[in-house]
Amino acid sequence: MNRPIFAVINTNALKHNLQLIKNMTSKSKIWSVIKANAYGHGIKNVWKSLIQTDGFAVLTLDEAISLRKYGCNKPILLLEGFFNKKDLDIVYKYNFTITIHSDWQLNMLILNKPKYNINVYIKINSGMNRLGFNLKSIPRIINIIKTIKVKNITFMAHFANTSRKNYKEINNIIKFINKNIKQYNFLRSFANSAAILWHPQTHYDWVRSGIILYGASPTGNWKDIKKNKIIPVMTLNSEIISIQKLLPGNTVGYNDSYHTNKHRRIGIIACGYADGYPRNISNNTPILVDGYITKILGDISMDMIAIDLINVPNANIGSKVELWGENIKIDDIAQSANTISYELMCSLSKRVPIIIK
Ligand SMILES: *Cc1c(COP(=O)(O)O)cnc(C)c1O
Repeated sequence: MNRPIFAVINTNALKHNLQLIKNMTSKSKIWSVIKANAYGHGIKNVWKSLIQTDGFAVLTLDEAISLRKYGCNKPILLLEGFFNKKDLDIVYKYNFTITIHSDWQLNMLILNKPKYNINVYIKINSGMNRLGFNLKSIPRIINIIKTIKVKNITFMAHFANTSRKNYKEINNIIKFINKNIKQYNFLRSFANSAAILWHPQTHYDWVRSGIILYGASPTGNWKDIKKNKIIPVMTLNSEIISIQKLLPGNTVGYNDSYHTNKHRRIGIIACGYADGYPRNISNNTPILVDGYITKILGDISMDMIAIDLINVPNANIGSKVELWGENIKIDDIAQSANTISYELMCSLSKRVPIIIK
């Protein structure tokens, strides 16, 4: 028997979610964001299911090159552009769209000009204060960029707070940006998943959709997207590999992290923090066994989890378990571990086999 843990990637869910995004942003083109190996789902596993997208956005050059090697000839956006001169040669070779967020990149570009017209994203610092140019410096940046061969220039902004309630602040930022760029007839790309859902006034020419493609909420709260009919793409499955009968006074796991006063039947699951399940989970985190929701007991081990079987008396060795996915929302597990679904998806361990459905 193989160790019974595996993640299923539901390609129909990907297609479905992309179509929903298309419906929401019908006047815009869509970058499907597949950085961090498609949020842990595997670029190789997902890109063909997203072929109806207008382009793919990645972080690293390796991700961009692998997409070309799989046969993808759609536009590919490097979200942070290039990191050195060698990168630029590869950008030109494969026709990637670059982001420019800093003067050092601009200088490097001028010293290593492209031989054909390239597409350039200019990142505006819209308040996050990580990357990007201040609006005051935009005329200077544009004057420099105009000295090289460019096809399209797009202004990119990334909002720090796109929660539904933040409508006013988002509007003010957009107004301020638009005032400063109105003399240019360039494209705009401002919206991530949250802005796609809750701030349609930000959609403009290109939206950049990440987390909702994969079927989780940008806020970390599933309730916020329940209405949108988005479907979770990744399901993490395992099985019970041992049953224990506890007596009153027994404990479970390292450091006696769970203690019982009753006779109690528990199951041991083949999944631990080395598989990507968060260790710092709170008590009573839900888990699905044979279709019934029960809860996790005690500390998560590297390779195992103990669960309560009091409400699933028929569960036994080989019973099917869902840790997160279609039924147990990854947002809920993330909340229980004080994090967000993004981190859990990206942390799925290499040792977990992936099955494409
Ligand atoms: C990651 C990223 C996105 C996607 O964000 P989601 O919240 O997952 O939709 C969009 N834009 C930029 C610049 C990013 O780095």
